[in-house]
Amino acid sequence: MDKIWLSSPHMGGAEQRYVQEAFETNWVAPLGPNVNGFEKDLETYIKEGTWVACLSSGTSALHLALILSGVSNGDEVLCQSMTFSASANPITYQGAKPVFIDSELDTWNMCPIALEEAIKSSIKKGRKPKAIIVVHLYGMPAKMDEIIGISKKYEITLIEDAAEALGSEFRGQKCGTFGDFGILSFNGNKIITTSGGGALVCRSEEKKQKAIFLATQARDNAVHYQHSEIGYNYRMSNITAGIGRGQMEVLDKHIGYRRLNNEFYQNLFEKIEGITVFKEPNKDYFSNHWLSAIVIDESKVGFSREDLRLCLLEDSIESRPLWKPMHLQPVFRECDYYGESVAENLFKNGLCLPSGSNLSDNDRHRIKKSINKLLK
Ligand SMILES: *Cc1c(COP(=O)(O)O)cnc(C)c1O
Repeated sequence: MDKIWLSSPHMGGAEQRYVQEAFETNWVAPLGPNVNGFEKDLETYIKEGTWVACLSSGTSALHLALILSGVSNGDEVLCQSMTFSASANPITYQGAKPVFIDSELDTWNMCPIALEEAIKSSIKKGRKPKAIIVVHLYGMPAKMDEIIGISKKYEITLIEDAAEALGSEFRGQKCGTFGDFGILSFNGNKIITTSGGGALVCRSEEKKQKAIFLATQARDNAVHYQHSEIGYNYRMSNITAGIGRGQMEVLDKHIGYRRLNNEFYQNLFEKIEGITVFKEPNKDYFSNHWLSAIVIDESKVGFSREDLRLCLLEDSIESRPLWKPMHLQPVFRECDYYGESVAENLFKNGLCLPSGSNLSDNDRHRIKKSINKLLK
């Protein structure tokens, strides 16, 4: 039986044409028409007046966002705890200290109350945090009105990790365009993929050019190689950007498919007391539903999320626990944490289900059949 994956690459058809073009014109380099074209496509798609720099990964984009926000040795950066480790790792690349913030139940993202508590406590100790990293988990927009309000009130730079949320919207505005910086990822399992890649969304062309300067080894303007700053090798290749241009042509269609998957799970679990499908809290939120997830109340259904995971695995269907919160990770055990146990409980009882835009009717039938074995 073919394995059903959580989220696998889904090509639209035009990708190879752009890659072919790169070969034919010998633009096999970390710059060229596909990189410029992909940046233009993204700028047009997310919002006129934003500036996008395509990079080698979402992680490198986040690293540059921190550098451009002036984060350095010893600084504190407030970061959503419930996320993928790539949201937090770049903080430590800068020698800064992550302070982790709990989630709230509506969006599973950064809790504004815990965020403000952390800021007040840091200020009291005389070390005002340098930046906030908010994540739009599984494509669900965070409570951006409240988070922006807090970042403005305390004048702290806001970085949006929209790696999972390309195409998602809060009150009609695309995720990644609210903060001082936004980051996107095009890794293999994301809503669109370039096989590997990412982008930094900036508020000005000047910031974008500075990001590209740092991403290409920080070369001064001279005929020889001269450097006055430490640089990085973070630029996107013109080959992978070609895949990105092709993927942009099918992005909205693929979001539609992912949203249909979410509807499928909502119908499947509609009458099951004890299983809640993760969905938008109200009309302010539009999720790309990158991954569909459920929370299981074991006391009501009589099985745990691990029971369900193993049951699916037996039928060659991949599922995965929600992100293990960063404040529970061995590598971050020394870090401060604000909040209660929302993220912890979500991790304990939550499961991500197959959500690819390329799931077939037959795949959904197999998933339903497998889940029904436990529901009986
Ligand atoms: C995938 C992901 C990243 C990192 O992106 P890469 O392109 O894999 O480096 C960062 N944050 C979140 C929330 C992600 O899911």
